[in-house]
Amino acid sequence: MTGDKQGFDRLGEIYKMMWTKTICSPLLVLLAGLVVWGWGDPPAATRVANEKQDLPEVTEGIRPKLTNSALPEGIPAHDATTQSVTPRWYRGNLHTHSFWSDGDDFPEMIVRWYTDQGYHFLALTDHNILSRGEKWISLDTVEKRSGGPECMEKYQTAFGGDWVQIRESQGATQVLLCPLDRIRERFEKEGEFLLIEAEEISDSVNGKPLHMNASNLEQLLRPTGGASVREAIDSNLRAAAEQAERTGRQILVHLNHPNFGWAVTAEDLAAVTRNRFFEVYNGHPGVNHNGDANRPSIERMWDIINTLRIDKFNVLPLFGLAVDDSHSYHGKPGGSHPGRGWVCVRADELNAEQLIGAMHRGDFYASSGVELKTLQFDTENKVLQLEIVPAPGVTYQTQFIGTRKGYDETTKSKEDAEGKPVPGTRVYSAEIGEVLATSAELQPTYQLKGDELYVRAVITASCDHPDPSFSGQKPQAWTQPVGWEK
Ligand SMILES: [Zn+2]
Ligand SMILES: [Zn+2]
Repeated sequence: MTGDKQGFDRLGEIYKMMWTKTICSPLLVLLAGLVVWGWGDPPAATRVANEKQDLPEVTEGIRPKLTNSALPEGIPAHDATTQSVTPRWYRGNLHTHSFWSDGDDFPEMIVRWYTDQGYHFLALTDHNILSRGEKWISLDTVEKRSGGPECMEKYQTAFGGDWVQIRESQGATQVLLCPLDRIRERFEKEGEFLLIEAEEISDSVNGKPLHMNASNLEQLLRPTGGASVREAIDSNLRAAAEQAERTGRQILVHLNHPNFGWAVTAEDLAAVTRNRFFEVYNGHPGVNHNGDANRPSIERMWDIINTLRIDKFNVLPLFGLAVDDSHSYHGKPGGSHPGRGWVCVRADELNAEQLIGAMHRGDFYASSGVELKTLQFDTENKVLQLEIVPAPGVTYQTQFIGTRKGYDETTKSKEDAEGKPVPGTRVYSAEIGEVLATSAELQPTYQLKGDELYVRAVITASCDHPDPSFSGQKPQAWTQPVGWEK
């Protein structure tokens, strides 16, 4: 374990190195001042009651300290002391389905699509399964699920007779599903494209769907279940942490689509302090991204979650991913198509350890169509600045959103039109997640005033989304919360 002091010492060393070896450049200086975040040691898994009545009970599985401190063991830091490596943005999708579970195309067709679109990394995340070993699918299922014979025809045209394996078994024609290692041989290219082995842990708690993606696995993780949503989130995270420790790998777990089946509340996500990531945007049309009359949108939940985590529980905020959750690859109207949500991660190299390390530091943004050239938080001067890559004829609005200290803390339960309480996230004041500033510039900046618990930016394009997952959708990008370090 490395403590707070060592973290600051290391930052100091980086500065010193840069000046004394005269290798400093504005970029490197900025990099050293950038996010070097982490968390402390996990105490024993216990649960404690919270003193305040209205607050959720915190899961004490892990309490990542709210400090600008050292990274946990094994998470690589940016190597700002070497000139040879310049961190760059890598674009990837960490939520994808194929015929290995309920997607409607062959995995290598899907991988080919993502490489053709210029993605740098991809995780195939089928439900409770890794793409390993021998698995056959009947041609009947292929045609039924994909909507006709075209899927098989496209597959054979793309990959040819030597690659595609077909057999007759028990009176049915079957097609062999390609395992990940064979797909890797064909598509992975050092520095250009990476496949991360992953699954969607698809758990269920009291009839509610609880889904969590685990990326960079060595072994399948089976859903652990739990007496409550919070317990199940925590125990699945614990299982992933045990595998990470046993294998020495970095494993990234993120909580999927909290509003799907109205399964996970903002209070749940605030309370499970072991959890660090969730989907602020999921491209599946069925995930209730905007909430409904009685329940908040995902983005509103994010502000409630992070206000509670930072102000009440003194733990790190939750970071947000955008993902496709793609199932539907043949243009089915209303389907969950690929290409709607992704993350851009700033890393030194394209490998799972570096990418996951950068995500733990919050060095990434989520996008549904807006691209950023730069994104920096100067921890010294407390300035958040970014630069948008403009598309022709499109304008952009950036909102800096946060919660100020001394905000109105009152909450009440939601009531429906008849006055009956609606289970789910409580109603919080408008002072949580308020718009602190708005900019129409391509290089918006926000100077923190000092009373913010955190600040994040959301950038919205003026054009319509080319393939919306909800009506009226505009392309957006979401940066991670900053300014919360104590
Ligand atoms: Zn799911
Ligand atoms: Zn999924």
